[in-house]
Amino acid sequence: MNTPTQIAELTDVNSIRAQFPILERQIYGQKLVYLDNAASSQKPLAVMNSIQEYYSKYHSNVHRGVHHLSQVATDLFEASRERMRVFVNAASSREIIFTKGTTDGINLVAYCLRNRLKAGDEILISEMEHHSNIVPWQMTASATGAKIVVVKISPDGSLDLNDFDQKLSKRTKIVSIVHISNALGTINPAASICEKARKFGALTLIDGAQAAPHGTIDVQAIGCDFYVLSGHKMYGPTGSGILYGREELLNEMPPYQGGGEMIAEVRFDGTTYNELPFKFEAGTPNIESAIGLKAAADYMESIGFENIAQQESALLQYATESLSEIDGLRLVGTANEKASVVSFLVDGTHPSDVGTILDQLGIAVRTGHHCTQPLMRVLGIPGTVRASFAVYNTFEEIDFLVAGIRRAQKMLN
Ligand code: PMP
Repeated sequence: MNTPTQIAELTDVNSIRAQFPILERQIYGQKLVYLDNAASSQKPLAVMNSIQEYYSKYHSNVHRGVHHLSQVATDLFEASRERMRVFVNAASSREIIFTKGTTDGINLVAYCLRNRLKAGDEILISEMEHHSNIVPWQMTASATGAKIVVVKISPDGSLDLNDFDQKLSKRTKIVSIVHISNALGTINPAASICEKARKFGALTLIDGAQAAPHGTIDVQAIGCDFYVLSGHKMYGPTGSGILYGREELLNEMPPYQGGGEMIAEVRFDGTTYNELPFKFEAGTPNIESAIGLKAAADYMESIGFENIAQQESALLQYATESLSEIDGLRLVGTANEKASVVSFLVDGTHPSDVGTILDQLGIAVRTGHHCTQPLMRVLGIPGTVRASFAVYNTFEEIDFLVAGIRRAQKMLN
């Protein structure tokens, strides 16, 4: 394969790969080529070991007991909160709420902001949103009479900023936009979106599910009111995630769920609520996931955020150039600002047929609508094949992908 000379892989990608035991697996007797990282990334030993160590040595419920184990477990849990505060550069750890992930975080915000909305108010989202940044707002809209307004995308898959400017108005109460599109790879200008929204007094939520794997999130620089992410896409465990919320707003918002831990005092004639962040964390939290999430953030830092960015941008460039050489392959999403996600269609084939043939070759890609059915409808396509890269992927794996697509073309045409 003709490796472009100006782009290079990280020299120590093999030592990174060695930290991910699953990458050694064979699938149908073939070497696994895992290119479905936008759905969920694989986990390094450091994350798995942190969870094993927690259960082997420290497990107990948190924030409850006076006994030693409970105090150690609480310290580990709260250390993860502080780690994630640093990860997103929040001003205070009171602004970091543990969630099950992005979907959970958006549902929390959409539910707790209901009392700020009335008929005629508008919630601005975009055509490229994931279902989890559409449906919770639809539920909130139908409960309050507010209206969902949808910003268009441009033909290259970038956000149509003129349309955004036109649709943003005094009626806009909430702007909820994806930071990086999981279907197209487009990176949206989150800071300027939030700045414009603020001028109209609208609250802002940024869906950072696909931005978290890059580890360069700065909620203060972005200037958003809320930021949500999922741990499982940033090398961490499933069931982990955080919601960042501006402290003043979180204080004003009602709780999401009621139960243990989120209370100050409970009486049969009424309850007062705990302080932040516990007000939003009812019940026993997912302690192991929080601990694994810290290990994931530490792991990313140990590789180096610049190294992650360098590898992903090399993979994106190499994949874009290699795939463009295939006759009959059309890239879907070609914005200038893109993350390491390539969506494509192959003439005369259905995405799921291509995905099935690639699977038989041990190559894991995602096919279908990627939880963005409205976007696929806008684009007039049934779905795409999507290859998404993590720091452990290699040019060689992209060569396998290209060879697999050529084979699928022969078999299906
Ligand atoms: N938003 C985006 C952009 C995503 O890619 C995803 C996951 N595919 C989500 C939201 C939902 O994340 P989760 O399923 O982890 O809650």
